Amino acid sequence: MPNNKIFPQLVIPQTIAAGPGPGNTDERVLAAFSTAGLADHMHSDVLRGMIECKQMLREVWGTDNIHTFGVAGTGWSGLDMMFSGVQPGDKVVMFVNGTFSGIDGLSVRMKAATAAEMAKNSLNPEAASVVTINVPHGQSVTQQIIDKALSEHKPKWAAMAHWETGSGRINDLEGFSVACEKYDVLGLVDAVSSLGVSNFRIDDYPGVHGWASCPQKGICCLPVTYAPVSFSERFIDTVISSGARSFVHHPVMEARHWGVVERKDVEKGTYHRTHSAYAIAAFHEALRITLSQGLAARAADYIYHENALRSAVEAMGCEVTSNMTSLIVLNLSKDLAGREMELVQHCRAQNFGIWPTLSEPVQVRIGILNLLTRESVTEIVNRFAQAIRDLGGNVDEAAVNEALTTSYDRAVAAE
Ligand SMILES: *Cc1c(COP(=O)(O)O)cnc(C)c1O
Repeated sequence: MPNNKIFPQLVIPQTIAAGPGPGNTDERVLAAFSTAGLADHMHSDVLRGMIECKQMLREVWGTDNIHTFGVAGTGWSGLDMMFSGVQPGDKVVMFVNGTFSGIDGLSVRMKAATAAEMAKNSLNPEAASVVTINVPHGQSVTQQIIDKALSEHKPKWAAMAHWETGSGRINDLEGFSVACEKYDVLGLVDAVSSLGVSNFRIDDYPGVHGWASCPQKGICCLPVTYAPVSFSERFIDTVISSGARSFVHHPVMEARHWGVVERKDVEKGTYHRTHSAYAIAAFHEALRITLSQGLAARAADYIYHENALRSAVEAMGCEVTSNMTSLIVLNLSKDLAGREMELVQHCRAQNFGIWPTLSEPVQVRIGILNLLTRESVTEIVNRFAQAIRDLGGNVDEAAVNEALTTSYDRAVAAE
């Protein structure tokens, strides 16, 4: 008798990952993942690979922070470690301008809530010690907003997303760092969307003491691998004196497997958890690719292609409200206004993986993570134009082609 509980082998189609993330994993990363041999987490080459990853990560982040390594998992895993420094009752100012900083806010309220606050509403606790500054969707967190909130509340911690992927907005990192220094606040930054896309060095922002990113966006390493994190000495001092209620996401304990013991680099990591040789090999390759392209060159490439995509969708009558370079967030032209979700679903049904915004208002998000060629961008533009036509909208094909060509030629001429 056939066993009805066994399903046919899972087949997942190839899509164009033209969303906010995950990005398109490089072939070299997949090859490294699938050709690595089976070796345990204390094998000398696995440990060496982790130490090399740690050193490459310091380069990618632009830091001398000794506590720089990867947290197994996704962006939220790294963020959970970063926020693990926050203790019940700690005063925190959270800047929220979209979906992801909103979830960061929830994460922080879960850490800062007292036992009584937690018991009252454990899935969405109100923590009296957390002040949330809400900035409307589509707007950036500015230096003025940050300075005002920190001067008024004088918290222990403040947190912000560098690039808020939900609304496609870049927040003022420089203003955040300066205000954190000015009011002696420990700054924490969600750099999930910006690392590997934007050219910045975290050591240029001394007001920020904790940083967390993800594997699958700018680092192009989806096979669930490692979320890059980096912590200053002051962050580590704080964690050692007030604690972190986690073993697995403990910033000091997890660092040990990456060869950071007692605040020093050591030759060999010590056991924290069973790391995967496949994941280490993939992550190592992704970091090699990032560094060999160079952050400056990669950031310039994003600017170049985002500009072209932006001009093309504007020629379709769309209004772009974002300023990130890995992603555009747009409203459809007047005749299709309100049908953003329908259009996104239509595209996704054809494995053209664009996204809606996840919080109101509903807008369309089109990303170019690791799709940095004129061919890829042209294909995205053509497929998007076709989707608009499928919904009964008009696209002036000549105008769109001209916008694309002008943008690319202008950029070439400027070189
Ligand atoms: C994508 C994203 C996250 C969540 O990352 P996961 O890899 O899905 O865990 C958090 N913050 C920001 C700003 C993001 O863009």
